[in-house]
Amino acid sequence: MKQSSWTTYPFMPVLLFASIFPDIDGLFSGTVAGHHSILHTPIFWIIIFTGMSLVNVFLKIDVIKPISFGIFLGAQLHLFTDWLTARTVGIQWLYPLSQKDYYLFQIQPEKGQVSIWKMVQNPYFSFYMENKVLFWGEIGVILIAGALLIYHNQIHSQIRGTSVK
Ligand SMILES: [Zn+2]
Repeated sequence: MKQSSWTTYPFMPVLLFASIFPDIDGLFSGTVAGHHSILHTPIFWIIIFTGMSLVNVFLKIDVIKPISFGIFLGAQLHLFTDWLTARTVGIQWLYPLSQKDYYLFQIQPEKGQVSIWKMVQNPYFSFYMENKVLFWGEIGVILIAGALLIYHNQIHSQIRGTSVK
């Protein structure tokens, strides 16, 4: 099967890395609610993607394609899920045109005035579990992803007689 050059190696590892990378800004902020920097705005990643695409147009370095696409898609997936599961801070989809914060369920910014390291402790963790739809939805997604990974590995080991690395 022919694969698009946008999704050839190292697209997958870059996608995985980029899908968690925006939260690096949490290390530099004092609170959970305050941790969304420019890394949590789509415009930043559009500029990065455009810049990398321009470099590719002029220098024709093929590996830039899967890397730039992986970064772009991974970061957008992160922003989308942060929007979907926002509890204390949303996503500024239109930044810098507007500073408006977008979220799906009503957020409570005052509950996020704790340090990142306090997120796994009470009272933050109880607040985190308050929205049962979100909480069990998140657990469900993790379980489905784990099941898919196991299924995928089994199919490959049946085909090749080896497991996927
Ligand atoms: Zn985030």
